[in-house]
Amino acid sequence: MSIKAFRFQLRLKPGTERALRRFAGSCRWVWNAAIGEQQRRREAGEQFTGYAAMCQWLTAWRHAPATAWLAEAPIHPLQQTLRRLEAAYQRFFAGQGGYPRFKRRGQEPGLRFPDPKQFALDPANARVKLPKLGWQRIRLSQSVVGELRNATVTRERGHWFLSLQVELPDVLPAAGLAPTLGIDLGVALFAATSDDQQIEPLQALERQQRRLKRYQRAVSRKVKGSRNRRKAVDRLGRLHARIAAQRSDWLHQLSTRLADAHPVIAIEDLQVAAMSASAAGTVDAPGQRVRQKAGLNRAILDQGWAEFRRQLEYKCAARGGAVVAVNPAYTSQKCRQCGHVSADNRRTQSVFACVACGHAENADTNAAKNILAAGLAVWAEGPPACGAAVSRAQPARARRAAAKKQEPAEATCSGPVPGTSAVGIPCL
Ligand SMILES: [Zn+2]
Repeated sequence: MSIKAFRFQLRLKPGTERALRRFAGSCRWVWNAAIGEQQRRREAGEQFTGYAAMCQWLTAWRHAPATAWLAEAPIHPLQQTLRRLEAAYQRFFAGQGGYPRFKRRGQEPGLRFPDPKQFALDPANARVKLPKLGWQRIRLSQSVVGELRNATVTRERGHWFLSLQVELPDVLPAAGLAPTLGIDLGVALFAATSDDQQIEPLQALERQQRRLKRYQRAVSRKVKGSRNRRKAVDRLGRLHARIAAQRSDWLHQLSTRLADAHPVIAIEDLQVAAMSASAAGTVDAPGQRVRQKAGLNRAILDQGWAEFRRQLEYKCAARGGAVVAVNPAYTSQKCRQCGHVSADNRRTQSVFACVACGHAENADTNAAKNILAAGLAVWAEGPPACGAAVSRAQPARARRAAAKKQEPAEATCSGPVPGTSAVGIPCL
């Protein structure tokens, strides 16, 4: 069984929103009151009180006249708050976390409904039924599959969201599959595929850069601690969130489309973390071309290669396929027609022109086709889903073998030394 999450925006009427805020505020009150009670007991020399006993405090609070308003909120999220508090205490006792802290206004925990009996989903009418709130409309941006496990309602930057967790049966790798698509990741193009698609990057950040700068300036001009600064910070935060949402939506649509059409995909094993590592270098070895690299880094992060690959991996796996990572060495310099490898094949950034056979095409498409061929070779060597273990068990040997495999028979190559960037992990 595997767990999958769905997240939808709630479309609330103002009255409902006020009620939800009150419920979230009640959870925060319970969290803080329970910490206060634990502290009082500790100072009195008593032992830590566990979840079950804390729930009895909650019952007492809900019946006490002074805090009877707690009874207006649904009981399960309040109990879940105590469950989370207990987990925070257990982490503290195990030395894995700090002492649980009081939550301030604005730090309300989400409302968690731990049992599918407590809520109902009506996809046909795009609505969800929540305790004490009744039916609420949601932006049902995709269809929910699987068996509902729990629901959480959270507030983010003025919007309320419903997160659903579902349980899905594991998909067994389908037999007889092989890579049918190679993807080359780039900067000028976000990606080029072996079936001649050229995917332009979503320059969400680029496009909104000017507005972002203006909002940032507005924040820095306001007096610290002032109400206007608070407003400007909120506005900047909303813009950041909007950019992130646009980027996430774009990336998800792209990865879903590719995984739907191609359950097994070959992709170059760029070490995104290494590539976007600090260009400034260290004191002993200062980096070169810092500004250019900084720009490239931002472009890489802006386009979210690592996130793209993560999405492809789980979406392909959910379709019984896999992502095959191939050694990226020479994929951009090798002619896919005759196999000639030379830096001269790449006279310009965008055009590939083989100096041996004259084959010419878009450089990124040529690379994507090489990646597909390399993926097929890796696939033929053995079953996937062994990758991490194999690469950990024998990293040096795998790396050397992979580097060798990419070398042409004659010493005609004038490409970069492999080894340094070559990874050669057979599969994932
Ligand atoms: Zn050629």
